[in-house]
Amino acid sequence: MPIPKRQRSPLIRKYLNVSRSAQTEARRLGELKPVEPAARREGLPVLGDDQVYVLKYGTDYHTTWCQVVADTWECAPRRLFVTLLATVGERTRCTECDRQAKAARVSAAQEYHQQPRLTPEPAPPDAVVPLKVMGMAHGILFLAAGQEYRERLKETAVEPATPLYVDGRRDGLVVRLDSASDEPLLLVQLDPRATFRNGPYQVRLRHPLRRSATKPYAVESVEFVQPAP
Ligand SMILES: [Zn+2]
Repeated sequence: MPIPKRQRSPLIRKYLNVSRSAQTEARRLGELKPVEPAARREGLPVLGDDQVYVLKYGTDYHTTWCQVVADTWECAPRRLFVTLLATVGERTRCTECDRQAKAARVSAAQEYHQQPRLTPEPAPPDAVVPLKVMGMAHGILFLAAGQEYRERLKETAVEPATPLYVDGRRDGLVVRLDSASDEPLLLVQLDPRATFRNGPYQVRLRHPLRRSATKPYAVESVEFVQPAP
């Protein structure tokens, strides 16, 4: 028997109410003023210095490609906007972004000071894998590792906001690791302002930041290797 139109199921009513109040809430936080992202890599919007991500009905703004942003991009890309940090209104900074930034800082600090007491697990063996440049297309740098590293890289994940460092500068983001071919490939999205450096690179591995991670290793960073003086 069909449900009469006026009597929507409680679940649907609840959904409608929630979405309506979310809209009202988002409007109260300030008008959304989308701007063009600093760049796009494979369609994915890349933030400039003064830009942040906001979601259509979101009450937060995002400074990183955190899980919330990644999920929205996956499920409802039209709800993801880039705006200037100056126009976020009353929106608050996303806690997931904060956690991610903090975790990255902590792991960098731990590595720098080499404080074994603070490191939950020992660094994985062969934590640094050499890479060679395979090519460059549409701002994406293709780096390959030797066949002997394939098994290790199959067990390695790329977490959001994994940096590429050139001369200690953050020049891009690691977007994908493809270990399907004999020589595993790492795809790095170069920052639009960065200039491509040809030469040897290397990938640094660590244990994943998330306890729920499905692979035992994660990419800490990709680095351009300075030639010996
Ligand atoms: Zn976020």
